[in-house]
Amino acid sequence: MDVIVIGAGLAGLTAARVLRQAGKRVRVLEAAEQVGGRVRSREVGGFTLDAGYQVLFEAYPAVKRQLDLAALDLVSIPPSAAIRLGERSELLGDPRRDPGVIPGLLSAGSLTLKDRLMFARLVASVAAVPPHTLLTGPDEPTRVFLKRLGFSDLILERFFAPFFGGIFLKRDLSTSARLFRYYLRMLLSGPISLPRRGVSAISEQLAAGSDVTLNARVLKLSPHGRGVSVITSLGELEAPQVIVATDPASAGQLLGEEIGRGKVSSTYLYYSSSSALDAEYRLMLNPREGLINNAQWLSHLLSERAPAGQALLTVTVLGDPDLTDTELDTAVRAELNVWYGAGVEQLNTLAVERILYAQYPQPPDYAASLPGHATHLPGVLLAGEITSMSGIQGAMESGEKAAAIVLGDLAVMSRARGA
Ligand SMILES: Cc1cc2nc3c(=O)[nH]c(=O)nc-3n(C[C@H](O)[C@H](O)[C@H](O)COP(=O)(O)OP(=O)(O)OC[C@H]3O[C@@H](n4cnc5c(N)ncnc54)[C@H](O)[C@@H]3O)c2cc1C
Repeated sequence: MDVIVIGAGLAGLTAARVLRQAGKRVRVLEAAEQVGGRVRSREVGGFTLDAGYQVLFEAYPAVKRQLDLAALDLVSIPPSAAIRLGERSELLGDPRRDPGVIPGLLSAGSLTLKDRLMFARLVASVAAVPPHTLLTGPDEPTRVFLKRLGFSDLILERFFAPFFGGIFLKRDLSTSARLFRYYLRMLLSGPISLPRRGVSAISEQLAAGSDVTLNARVLKLSPHGRGVSVITSLGELEAPQVIVATDPASAGQLLGEEIGRGKVSSTYLYYSSSSALDAEYRLMLNPREGLINNAQWLSHLLSERAPAGQALLTVTVLGDPDLTDTELDTAVRAELNVWYGAGVEQLNTLAVERILYAQYPQPPDYAASLPGHATHLPGVLLAGEITSMSGIQGAMESGEKAAAIVLGDLAVMSRARGA
């Protein structure tokens, strides 16, 4: 074979796809028993549970280049949110695509008049320039940026903190303001969606046609004059070129250098109920400090995710709380009790999932210290979101670029981050 790709996450699968389409013989080695890395789903008692709560921004440039969106059978998620204030909610969001939020935008107590004007101005400013240009130039924490624009503390705590906390998996708005503007632009530029049958459909589509060996953990890389020996749990392989597209910790072990830039963890509780406690289908935000950051009745939008007559609620808790699963479940139910009262007793706990490495922290100017695709091992390239930004766009564009280096494709190699 010409190239061995290590890791069948979105980065590795994208690299393999591009190389295969260019006529290279490629083999992907994946340690797990399914493709997708962090973008995967599983079945539990007839429910389809995604790994955590993640969504696809159809406007991501790499997504548009690499995925056949029509074949993914996508369902749009409303570009809006319900701020849960006890038993009632206030709706905020994009009025062009979710007109149901218009009364809330006009009257919500969570928004001052100045906030409404600032929103309009912010949206106009990010929409006016090519998205990738939002990632360059001076940077600052998102909270500082929003305060500098004049947004009130109320809207920061009630909307921006939980909403973007759900995206960057940190609620403190300490993430790069440049990245915040890029994601806002992606939110505004196209549908936010989920494959009807689970996020795994994204990974499976990318993997289709590629030679992927599952349950094959790569243990060691030994470059030599003619290429690289790849020692795996299934035996030894050889290739002239290797792309390491694993998570940063594994990449660091294989390359013998520090790749990681820290970690952001998140935890998910999945509940079923035979009678939906709520008709709300939008993302629900918790404006209070507590365990729950956001929650969604996913089966209200994607009925296929639950058996007939059942509803599926996914709750996001940021971090990795120092509680047992049972203690966490009890504490989350106590918070849901504020929303649903005694109805909470009808919830059945399907699973508690802790994702210890969900993303890496992206403070202001984080990109300046990210690793590149070159490594100190001859014939070995690095891919993975760690070379770009922590998300689907970052993972896929890293795979495109690693493949472009193998192919000598200057146009793709020199493409701007986020373009
Ligand atoms: C809960 C959660 C929510 C998220 N929400 C969003 C979102 O809404 N939007 C968004 O854009 N992004 C989101 N992300 C981020 C996105 O999922 C990741 O950025 C992306 O999937 C990373 O892809 P990757 O290929 O770089 O790495 P990974 O997905 O980590 O893939 C690495 C692969 O390498 C394999 N591997 C590791 N070591 C070895 C080895 N030694 N040998 C062989 N294989 C190995 C692993 O098993 C894995 O399959 C979210 C992530 C999580 C976890």
